[in-house]
Amino acid sequence: MDLGATICTTRNPACAICPLREHCAAARTGDPAAFPVKLEKKAKPHRHATAFWIAHEGDVLLVRRPARGMLGNMRALPTGPWQDDPPGLAGAPIEADWRGAGSVRHIFTHFSLDLRVEAAVVSARPGLNGEWWPIKAIEQAGLPTLFAKAAMLGPAAIEEMVSPT
Ligand code: SF4
Repeated sequence: MDLGATICTTRNPACAICPLREHCAAARTGDPAAFPVKLEKKAKPHRHATAFWIAHEGDVLLVRRPARGMLGNMRALPTGPWQDDPPGLAGAPIEADWRGAGSVRHIFTHFSLDLRVEAAVVSARPGLNGEWWPIKAIEQAGLPTLFAKAAMLGPAAIEEMVSPT
């Protein structure tokens, strides 16, 4: 007999005809329908980070994330620390005239992240590790979803810098 399907159903347990009644702790409480107790889902921790969109002559600087850790070894925009509070420009790879380009929210399995994007146009390519990727072909860079979303904010921000209204 499948007790779970026929007698001890979640909303309406038939304790009166249940062969386990004498040994059942839930029945002894007088309110067997209150079991199993649903555990409240813990809220996911929330983090913040800043990504840097560095543009030069139609290209943007992409880096490889460290092999260990989130999005390991994947192409990405350079980012500062991922932490509990917004880090602002901490971890910016260069000094520049940064402009806020907006932010994206992404939900990972164990936490959510607000990623702010700061953009700058540089007159010369700084000597940073990474690769300069054509902005027009950014969809082909294989960016993980978080950085693909962030990359959508960069072009509009630098367009405003190059041709202010
Ligand atoms: S006695 Fe216990 S196991 Fe049986 S139906 Fe009631 S609650 Fe379920």
